[in-house]
Order: sequence, then structure tokens, then C-alpha cells
Amino acid sequence: MTTTPATTCIYCNEYKKFTDEHIFPAGMGGDDKDYLLKNLVCCDCNTQVFSPLEAQLMRNSPFAMGRLQFQPTGRTRGNKAKPPEFNPSRCVVVDDNGVISEAHITAGFKTLILPQLQIFNNNIEIGGSNNHEINSFINELKISLGSSVSVIVKRSNEIDIYYEVSKYEWNGHDYIKTNDDVYPKPPKGIWFENLGNNQDLNDGHPRLFKRLKGQIVIKLSRTAEISDFLSKVRRTLPQISEDSQRKEKELKNPLVNVGMKVEITKVFRAIAKIGVNFACHEYGDNTVRQASFRTIKEYILRGVGDSPVIDIPEIKELLSQEKRKIHLAILYPQIIGSQNFLLFILQIYGGGVLLINLTNDFQQSLIFEPVVYEIDYSNNKVNRSLLHEYLHTLINQSH
Ligand SMILES: [Zn+2]
Repeated sequence: MTTTPATTCIYCNEYKKFTDEHIFPAGMGGDDKDYLLKNLVCCDCNTQVFSPLEAQLMRNSPFAMGRLQFQPTGRTRGNKAKPPEFNPSRCVVVDDNGVISEAHITAGFKTLILPQLQIFNNNIEIGGSNNHEINSFINELKISLGSSVSVIVKRSNEIDIYYEVSKYEWNGHDYIKTNDDVYPKPPKGIWFENLGNNQDLNDGHPRLFKRLKGQIVIKLSRTAEISDFLSKVRRTLPQISEDSQRKEKELKNPLVNVGMKVEITKVFRAIAKIGVNFACHEYGDNTVRQASFRTIKEYILRGVGDSPVIDIPEIKELLSQEKRKIHLAILYPQIIGSQNFLLFILQIYGGGVLLINLTNDFQQSLIFEPVVYEIDYSNNKVNRSLLHEYLHTLINQSH
């Protein structure tokens, strides 16, 4: 049964089905019970717009590194504790000899070298953090490099994602490409990735490796080299006996190189949305429905308009002095000149401070004192206090 909601979504202003919206993202330690917006945010805004923005904030922004360090176990949902994910576009380590290997950073900043096979000149070297993983990688390679191999390239256009698949047949000495096809879903096979497409970075030697999630990836500078590379590996595989040529690498102080393609506007939009959520919770939905919030909502929903990020170095400096083990969010009504602003200040994982101007025509600034929310990500609790109360506890703590 569907009923027409009595009110509109505070973001898109349409009559649509509502879903609960976490004021602060649950995956970063937000409160599940007392800090939800109920019957205020529609399902479409929530899942189609906000979820991808939050994913960007949590998995692919500088804040994601903080999340790995401070929330290594992630959040417990039912019985399953899900570790936080971090999806950099590139993660490699460089060892003492300058050899570059594919790596993975786990929760708590532990670096693993993925099981891999590299070709230096004409020598094949096999390595990884763990011998058991290396052995299972070799066994899988022996199975994957059978009489025919599919090599998959993931592609995307404006509309969807598709897979270009090239088939290679073994003729007893070489793999020969027999055909190319396009699939809507990936078949079983080996994934292709470009090596050295970043001009500024040394990307190492051609290699085959196994991702934590199990995919086998071939990394070369050109697809034209695939057949040659796979043939070399296939010819050598039978000679790779247990434990020979293996390098179980233990990293003491690895030089880790993580590449992130941060879409910073999406990160700002995600944070602006958290600010509007807090404003709605604090001042009521009628306040955020005012015309003065229209600009920031357009920015959040569509990424249009000027950046609302502002710089007040005094505030940043003040907050950056202490490394807090919480997130700090502050709604800060402020008069600048003859205008009333509502600023939102956010410090995530005790790190950098970001200031966002939610509106420059805020009607309530003369009445309301700044409000401070301390978000304790270790137990998903939010503590609200007025600025004078917050300062009072800070002063008492320091004595
Ligand atoms: Zn909506």
C-alpha cells in the first residue's frame, strides 16, 4: 500500500516516499537512534544522490585514510563487523631495491603485498606477503591459463558499464588472440589494467596479481602485449616448483604510494548535506525549507553554483590545536557585515577543519547560540551542547 506523504522532501521539495536519513553517516560513527531525520528526506534523494556522495567521502577522500586508522573494525551490523573499505585508484609499495609491487592497505594501516608475478627483463619473479596466498595464486594461474583465456577490460560510457573481452587460444607454444566481443556482464577470466598511464609515476614492471577479492589482474602498458606476456607465463609455470623463486616479503617501513582520484566537489557536497541535516534537526524543517537554503540544496543535489566552502583561518587554527578522538560538528550562526550567516564547521577524525556556509540569509542568528555536536565514532553516540557549555567542559577538563 502506498500513501501520498503529507509533506515534501526537504531537499527536492517533491511528494515522494520517505526513508530515514542519518544526520551524520552511520558508517563514520553517526547515531542510529536519536539522530535520524524521519519523514523528511525522500528515498530518491537518499539513495540516488546522498549514497554516492557519502561513498566518495568515506572511501575515496582524504578522510577515508582517517577512517582506516581510527575505525579499523568498522561498524557492527547484527553479527557481522564490516571493516571500512577504502578504494584508492592505485596502491603500490616500493621496496629497498626500488621494485614496485601491488599492495593493499587494510584497516589499521597494515600494508599487504598482494600475491604477484612480475617479469624483469626475461626473469619471472613471484612474491607476496604470505606464502600460502602465493601458492594458491600459482595454482589458480595454472587453472586460468588453460587452452583458452578470456581477458576482460572494464569500460564505461555515460549510460552504462560494459566489458570488452578478448579470447586467446593456446597453440602449444603461444597464446593467439582469436576474437573480441562485448559483454554486459563480465565472464570468468583475467582482468586487464593499464600500466604506467600516469606519466608522473614510475609504475614498475609488467605483472599479474591477485586482488584480495580474488580477481586475477594483468597489468601491462598495452593490450598488444597480452599474448606475449601470457605465453611467457604459461611456458614458465610448470617449472615453478614449490617455494623456489618465491619472495615472501615482510615490510618494515614500506614506501606506500596511494593514488586517489578525489572528486572534491562530491566530498564538499556530502559535508554540506550533513550541515543541512544538522540544521534541520536543530532548528526544525520549516527553517531549512526557507528560500535562503535553496542555494545550498541545489549545490548538494546537483553540484551547481559557487563553492560554499569558506576559509576562516582563526577558527581552523583554534580547532586544529587538539587531536580529538571524535568528530566535531558545529552550527555557527554569525553576523558578518549586515548579513546573517549560518556556518557549518566540521572536523573529521580530529584532522582538518572544513567550513561551509549553509546560507547567508539566516533568519534566526540573533536568537540562537552556536551548537556543538561531538560525534563519538567508537560507540555511535552524538553529544549535543551549546557552545558555552562545551567550552565550560573543555575548561574543566584541562584543570
Ligand atoms: Zn527528495
